[in-house]
Amino acid sequence: MSGERDGQGWLFQVAPEVGESFDHYLGRFRRANCLSRAGLGEILGIETLTVSGWEMPSLNRPPRAEHLKKVSALVGVSEVELLSMLPVERSELHLETRLCPFCYGETPIHQNQWQQAKVDQCDRHDYSLLNRCPACGSGFRLPALWESGCCERCWLPFRDMRL
Ligand SMILES: [Zn+2]
Ligand SMILES: [Zn+2]
Repeated sequence: MSGERDGQGWLFQVAPEVGESFDHYLGRFRRANCLSRAGLGEILGIETLTVSGWEMPSLNRPPRAEHLKKVSALVGVSEVELLSMLPVERSELHLETRLCPFCYGETPIHQNQWQQAKVDQCDRHDYSLLNRCPACGSGFRLPALWESGCCERCWLPFRDMRL
């Protein structure tokens, strides 16, 4: 991360990881800059409700073109790259948040491809994607809120969720 001066003061730039989902990236960007959804909305000049929707893929409210342009200018990531990080169409979306613990152990991000309804396995690890904690059975939080990288109920780290 490096500091960049912009109209609002100093903001940390956060580089997306390969395959990272937009919502997970946005959560990381906000935390790196101590911004709430409302705070990010204020800087962008966009309503909080709209910004919140971007972090809830199941609502099917991805950023519109003019909003994506503003996000791109703020975070320093091209619109083309951001577009590739957006969730798939709702009809093709797996609504519950999923993860592959082996991938997460390598790179601690939520991957966009895990939410494709027709994909149930991680091909790299030949492992069924998890949609809940294998220890306590809790579902996973929204990827934008994955700050601690573990189950919010029993604290089992995502990378250790290998059966
Ligand atoms: Zn994997
Ligand atoms: Zn758990």
